[in-house]
Amino acid sequence: YKINMEELKYIEELGKGQYGTVQKVLHMPTGAIMAMKEIRLELDENKLNQILMELDILHKSNSAYIIEFYGAFFVESCVYYCMEYMDAGSLDKLYGDGVPEDVLATMTISMVKGLQFMKDKLNKIHRDVKPTNVLANMKGEIKLCDFGVSGQLIHSLARTYTGCQSYMAPERIKPQESSTTYTVQSDVWSLGLSIIELGSGKYPYPTPDKYSSILGYINAIIYEDPPSLPVDRFSEESRDFVAQCLKKDPQARPTYAQLLEHSFLKTYEHANVDMKGWVQKAYEAHLASANKR
Ligand code: ADP
Repeated sequence: YKINMEELKYIEELGKGQYGTVQKVLHMPTGAIMAMKEIRLELDENKLNQILMELDILHKSNSAYIIEFYGAFFVESCVYYCMEYMDAGSLDKLYGDGVPEDVLATMTISMVKGLQFMKDKLNKIHRDVKPTNVLANMKGEIKLCDFGVSGQLIHSLARTYTGCQSYMAPERIKPQESSTTYTVQSDVWSLGLSIIELGSGKYPYPTPDKYSSILGYINAIIYEDPPSLPVDRFSEESRDFVAQCLKKDPQARPTYAQLLEHSFLKTYEHANVDMKGWVQKAYEAHLASANKR
C-alpha cells in the first residue's frame, strides 16, 4: 500500500529540523494520525526513486524501539516521509535540567535495543544518534527515529548539512582518518554523548559561537579527555557505561550486546521505572516553558 499526498490532511506543524519541517497529519483512508517529514532535496527522479526503494526495508522492520514507518513519496524534489506520531516529541525538549538515573537507564536500554535491531536485523548503522532523534510518547515509550537506512538519502543530506553541534566521533573528524568508513562504533560514541546530554541537561562540549572558533571545538573532541556524567548525581556504574562508549579508540568501545550486559542497564532492566509519569511531567514542563517564551 502506498500513501500519497491527496490522502493526507494537515493538522499542525510539529517542528522544524535541519532539512525541513515535520507536520502532524491525518491519513484520511485509515484515520491514522501520522508525522510527516518533508525533506527538501535537489535530486533527479532516479535518485528520488532510489531513496524510496531503500526506505522500503523499513516496512519489514518491526521493533518496539524504532519509530514505525508508514511510507514515503516525493512531490517535485521533496521527499515526504510518513511515520508514527509520537505525542511527547523528541527528548531534547523533554530532558530539562537532566533526567534522573533510573529514567536515563531506561531510555538508554531503548536506544541500545533500537540500535542493535538496526544493526542485527537490518544490517544498518544509524549515523545520527542524538536526543532530537529519540522520541517519546505519553505511554512512556522511547523510540529511535531513523533515516540511516537509505544510503542515497544520507549522501544527499550530507551535502546540505549545516548543523553546528557535533555528535560525530573523533575518528570521523580527524582529517587523516576521515577516509575510513563509518562503523557501528561511531554510533556508540554518539550514544555516549547523547546519554550525557540527557543526564546533565546540556550538550557536553562548549559549542562554537562568535567568540570561539570551530577549530577549538573540533580539537576538544579529538584531543581532550571525553566528557562524563556529573559525579554528584550519577552512580559509578552509569559513569563507567558512558566512559566505555566514549573510548577514543573505536575498537575499544563495547558492542550493543556487551552494553546491554553492563551493570548500569542490568540494574534498571526490571525496575519498572515510571516512564509514563516522567514523560507526562516532562511534557507539561516543556509546554509551560514554551508558553513563557
Ligand atoms: P532534526 O533535523 O533536528 O533531526 P527533525 O526534522 O527530525 O529534527 O524533527 C524536528 C522536530 O519535529 C523534532 O524535534 C520533533 O519535536 C518533531 N518530530 C519529528 N518527528 C516526530 C514524530 N514522529 N512525532 C512527533 N514529533 C516529531
